[in-house]
Amino acid sequence: MKKTILTGLRPTGNLHLGHLFGAGQNYVKLQDDYDFYLEIADVQALTDNFNNPEKVRENIKEITMDLLAIGIDPKKVNIFIQSKIPEIAELTVFYSNLVTVSRLQRNPTVKSEIAQKKELFGNDGESITYGFLGYPVSQAADITIFNGELVPVGDDQLPLLEQCREIVRKFNSIYGDTLKEPEAYLSKTTRIKGLDGNDKMGKSLGNAIYLVDSEETIANKIMKAVTDPNKIKKDDPANPDVCMVYYYHKLVNDEDSLKVVCSECKKGARGCVLCKKELINKMNEFLKPIKERRKQYEDNPELVKEILENGTKIAKDKAKEQMKKVRKAMKIDY
Ligand code: ATP
Ligand code: MG
Repeated sequence: MKKTILTGLRPTGNLHLGHLFGAGQNYVKLQDDYDFYLEIADVQALTDNFNNPEKVRENIKEITMDLLAIGIDPKKVNIFIQSKIPEIAELTVFYSNLVTVSRLQRNPTVKSEIAQKKELFGNDGESITYGFLGYPVSQAADITIFNGELVPVGDDQLPLLEQCREIVRKFNSIYGDTLKEPEAYLSKTTRIKGLDGNDKMGKSLGNAIYLVDSEETIANKIMKAVTDPNKIKKDDPANPDVCMVYYYHKLVNDEDSLKVVCSECKKGARGCVLCKKELINKMNEFLKPIKERRKQYEDNPELVKEILENGTKIAKDKAKEQMKKVRKAMKIDY
């Protein structure tokens, strides 16, 4: 029997290069060999976008088209909408008894997201809701309701997976062996940096290159990308390892050209403007087939709707089955 994959994305914006290189390429790679559930996590997105439901609604379609554009085959992967499976919310309630508030507050991912919100909105953290603090619990329900064994993610998700494993162990120790402990599946590049040099490219950080960005937007973004601050003049030698332009060359350029970029940069034989222009061309070339595939779905919104409906139906059946086991184990199968 095939092992099960559960992974997900929050519909808060289009897919960016972080998604693609951090997790998305693994989705495509693994889709042949696993029973694959890909969640569009609208309930999780609402935890910090509850006052902007239109944004979440709109991005469900957007992100589904992005996923199809990178090569997810809907015949192999069940793409589904989280809120259409209320059993996940039910399981979240049961799990919430198994996690302490202080453990959630100490979760490194939650901690850094709270810090980021404080920085962005200038508040003192007073506005952090119960729902937001509890999203790792709901994520544990997402994974385990599908019996997820493998979870392809970027490394920012590792503390959330650890939290999920703890909940599984606690559940099994109290109610008997019912749930499986999931494992993370990481890519070679576990975290893609942002245009501003930030450690993580993220939707909420405003430092991303989106797969749907127009050629003009890509050019504007790359022209503003952070380069070696010690390089002042065009022929100053520089350190490619601190340059975001070289960093993205590494993602989309071929080995031979990369060697040339690196050695010319170190010798001071290449200016940043030329280097950025080369990257703009390479990036647009790289994104072209993705955009072409996406266009087929943009022209056929009924098909996208149908893909989501089919995926959701299959996922719902699987979730219902698991909830029967959970209720039985918890002695609430009245
Ligand atoms: P948000 O800012 O709304 O949290 P995000 O850009 O972090 O958005 P998510 O939808 O939270 O995107 O993440 C979906 C998946 O993509 C997760 O597996 C996450 O680890 C991965 N991912 C997101 N950004 C990066 C990145 N910069 N590098 C590697 N993986 C990433
Ligand atoms: Mg995120």
